[in-house]
Amino acid sequence: MRHGMVMAPDSRGTSPGTRPSVRILVVGGGYVGMYTALRLQRKLRERLKSGEAEIVVVTPEPYMTYQPFLPEAAAGSISPRHVVVPLRRVLKNCTIVIGEAERIDHAKRTATVTTPATGEDGTGALEIPYDELVLAPGSVSRTLPVPGLADFGIGFKTVEEAIGLRNHVIEQMDIASATRDPAIRDAALTFVFVGGGYAGVEALAELEDMARYTSRYYHNIKPTDLRWILVEATGRILPEVGDTMGKYAVRELRGRNIDVRLDTRLDSCEGRVAVLSDGSRFPTRTLVWTAGVKPAPVLAATDLPLTGRGRIRCTAALRVDGVEHAWAAGDAAAVPDLTSSEPGTETAPNAQHAVRQAKVLAHNVVAALAGRPTEDYRHSYAGSVASLGLHKGVAHVYGRKLKGYPAWLMHRVYHLSRVPTFNRKARVLAEWTLAGLFKREIVSLGSLEHPRAEFALAAGGHAQPQQPPGDPRRKEDGPPDASD
Ligand SMILES: Cc1cc2nc3c(=O)[nH]c(=O)nc-3n(C[C@H](O)[C@H](O)[C@H](O)COP(=O)(O)OP(=O)(O)OC[C@H]3O[C@@H](n4cnc5c(N)ncnc54)[C@H](O)[C@@H]3O)c2cc1C
Repeated sequence: MRHGMVMAPDSRGTSPGTRPSVRILVVGGGYVGMYTALRLQRKLRERLKSGEAEIVVVTPEPYMTYQPFLPEAAAGSISPRHVVVPLRRVLKNCTIVIGEAERIDHAKRTATVTTPATGEDGTGALEIPYDELVLAPGSVSRTLPVPGLADFGIGFKTVEEAIGLRNHVIEQMDIASATRDPAIRDAALTFVFVGGGYAGVEALAELEDMARYTSRYYHNIKPTDLRWILVEATGRILPEVGDTMGKYAVRELRGRNIDVRLDTRLDSCEGRVAVLSDGSRFPTRTLVWTAGVKPAPVLAATDLPLTGRGRIRCTAALRVDGVEHAWAAGDAAAVPDLTSSEPGTETAPNAQHAVRQAKVLAHNVVAALAGRPTEDYRHSYAGSVASLGLHKGVAHVYGRKLKGYPAWLMHRVYHLSRVPTFNRKARVLAEWTLAGLFKREIVSLGSLEHPRAEFALAAGGHAQPQQPPGDPRRKEDGPPDASD
């Protein structure tokens, strides 16, 4: 066991220089990171108490995001704070370091971590030595070299993006309502989503539902004025719910006047005009990109083995292949799917695998520390549930196919049972109940993104004042930021 660390004192007051006999470093505070740390904290309780072991979790945000609730957060059915789980509260016996692992030198068992206190030149970055490494940095949006995408695309992976998108959609309705220019109005009311997996389909379906409802409060916007387009490169959407239910989802969306274009790609979105591979062109101020994910960039800055697609190569026991004291799981890890008859199949990047892998991973780390044999990860995919807006859904779970209201109800029950902590379950249930009793919230709080604007204007300062609502130049320069 190695000693010494260059790291700030932890939340429990361990001073720099004192090292427990085992430090487990968890990189990432998402599904895998949080659930692994939670289990390790339970299983190693005595050793943590006596100072013999320490769990350090490095995470850029102080919370875990329950991503399946992001579409409902965007629709306003759940408030943003309730789709996240505060890590400091649930991981009371772990040391939480807010920061990003920039590099990992596993040969030296050291991670270089930048924190909010790190200077631009890298001064003040932490060097964290460890004994066991759990890599769980997840994935980032997989973009393609589509002209204009980097300038105008909006992602949908974080709570900030979800709430920013909600504000943005309502702002577009304000712009359309206020302008006399038909071109500006049409572009404001055209919403293009690229990618037909659950992130794209659920986000589009929930936002369309919300915007259609909101339009009744505008004197000059009818629901039919809103144009929603889903662009999918393959011949189907929602592959997670199977072929039949995927086709049903297409029919359901088309029945709501949503323009679903299969076997179609986005070729360009330069100048805020979405150009599709079928030759159509849509001037739009909203282009949401959810066309897949790729492993987190930090993986390339390690000395660990990667697959051609950039995932960490793992064994079925969730060890990094051929490497001692390194473990990985979730979106970032290429884990052999032992239930597949096709050799070389990896488990898919989804929450179902991430949560179950975290359980096995924690078990195996503790077993390895105790010199006991580890177990292999094996889970056959149970199917999936997806919401298509309020009271609409589609599900294919354990061979059972459901659609419409029963599928939507199943979606809610399933995710309520899955969202971590009793506290979050109670809050989400309370919000759903209140939403059933009262009308939907229809305001955009986009001005929260610029809290200093009004004061700066009043004080005659240099901060960029906000454009008045309805001004089509508002937020011309990029995707929306987050606000609550
Ligand atoms: C909108 C949306 C809806 C979804 N719906 C479903 C669903 O219905 N069902 C389902 O099964 N799956 C769903 N998923 C997929 C599911 O959320 C992911 O598969 C799951 O989150 C993967 O878990 P993970 O721990 O690997 O990564 P994540 O949960 O993404 O966690 C990774 C964490 O690592 C952090 N991190 C990244 N880089 C670093 C670094 N360098 N240093 C430190 N920390 C770092 C990230 O900030 C993040 O907190 C959905 C995803 C999205 C985006």
